[in-house]
Amino acid sequence: MADVLLRHFVPLHSVVVVNGADPVPDGHVLEAGTDYEARLIEGYDLTRFTDLYDDLYRRSAPTAYVWPRISFDADAHVLASRVELTLDDLATEVEQRILETCLEFDLLEPEPEADCGVLVGLSGGVDSTALLLALTANADRLPAHRIVAATFEDFDSQKSTVQARAKQLASDCGIPHITVGADRAQNAFHLSCPLSEALTGLMETADAHKVMYIDHHTTRRVLEVVAVEEGLDRIALGLHVSDLVAGLLNSWFTGYDVAPVPRRRIGDLTYIYPLAFINKKQLHLYYRQRTGGFATHAHPNAWELHPQDRNFYYYLADVMQQYWPGLEVFLYSAHRWRGRRQAPLVEEHCVNCGSTLLHQPFTPVDSDWCDVCQIFERHGYIDREAL
Ligand SMILES: [Zn+2]
Repeated sequence: MADVLLRHFVPLHSVVVVNGADPVPDGHVLEAGTDYEARLIEGYDLTRFTDLYDDLYRRSAPTAYVWPRISFDADAHVLASRVELTLDDLATEVEQRILETCLEFDLLEPEPEADCGVLVGLSGGVDSTALLLALTANADRLPAHRIVAATFEDFDSQKSTVQARAKQLASDCGIPHITVGADRAQNAFHLSCPLSEALTGLMETADAHKVMYIDHHTTRRVLEVVAVEEGLDRIALGLHVSDLVAGLLNSWFTGYDVAPVPRRRIGDLTYIYPLAFINKKQLHLYYRQRTGGFATHAHPNAWELHPQDRNFYYYLADVMQQYWPGLEVFLYSAHRWRGRRQAPLVEEHCVNCGSTLLHQPFTPVDSDWCDVCQIFERHGYIDREAL
C-alpha cells in the first residue's frame, strides 16, 4: 500500500485506506480483486500538488539533466518549472548561479583595511574541486580577490593520490596551493600524538559518535590558522544545498543556534559558501563536464557513518529537495530574517585551540575550553607540557 501511495506522491499521513469498513495498514500487501479506498483526511488540494510531480519527474527529456524548481508566485500559487539542459548548458548554469551567489551576498567583497583574500579548503573531492573550478571560471566577473587553496596531508598519503591531484588542479587553475601538514592539528590542539592517532583512539571510547564532529572542528580550526598566516580573511568551503539544509534541520530539532548562510562571520574570519544554491547531483554533473570523468565515491572512513542522527538529517534534506526542489532559496532567507530579529549570537573562545564558537544558550558553560578540547583532555590526548 505504501508503495502505491508514494509512487503517486501521496503522503502516507494524508489518507486513511480502507477495505470496506476495515482500515488497512501502510505495509499491507494488496490483494487482487479487492477494492481499496484511500480517503483524504487533509484539507488541501492533494491532486494539485501531486500533479506538480508529473510535470517535474514524469516527462522524459532528450538532455542530460532537467533542473526542477517549485516556487510560489506573488498570488500565492505553487508552481513547478523545469529546464532541460545539456551537460554543457548545465555547467554554464552552475557557474552562473555560483557567480550570482557570490555577487548577491558579497561573498568576495574585500573588507576595507583588512588583509583580504580567500582560503579554499581543497580536499580534492567533487565539492571542493567544483568550487575551485567555478571560482576560477568566474574570476573575471567577480570582484578582484586573492585565492589560495589548502589541502590536508592525508592520514594515509601513501595509498592516496589526493595531494597530487589537488596540487595539479590548483596549478591548472593558476592558484597557489598549500599542503597542510599532519602536525598542524597536533600543534594547534596541543595533542600528545598525531590527530589521526587521537581520532582512531577516540573511536574506542564512549565518545566515538562525536569523532566526526571533532574531525570537522579540527579541520576548520587548522584552516583558520593557515588563513591568518597567509593574510586571508575568508574561508570558502564547498558546502552545497544538502549540507546546509541538513545543518538547519539539525538546528531546528536540537535548538542549537546556527549562524546565517551563505556568509557567516565567526570571530575575525568570514566563512563563505558559494555552492549554497547548487545541489550534490548538479555538482557531480558539473564535475563530469569540466573534468571529463565522474568523481569516484570515496568510501566513508570509520567515523563518517556515525553519528547516525546527523546522517538522517542529510537523508531528510535530500528527500525534502525531491518534494521541493529549490526550497533553499526560501529557507536561507527565512533563517537570515529570523536571525536578525533574535538576540545577537554570542561567541565563545577556546583558550586551548583558539577557536571561536557560538554560545548555545541552554548549554551551561563551565570551562573556557571548547567541547572538542575537553574531550581530548578527558581521554588523555592533551600534552600538558605544550600548553
Ligand atoms: Zn578548543
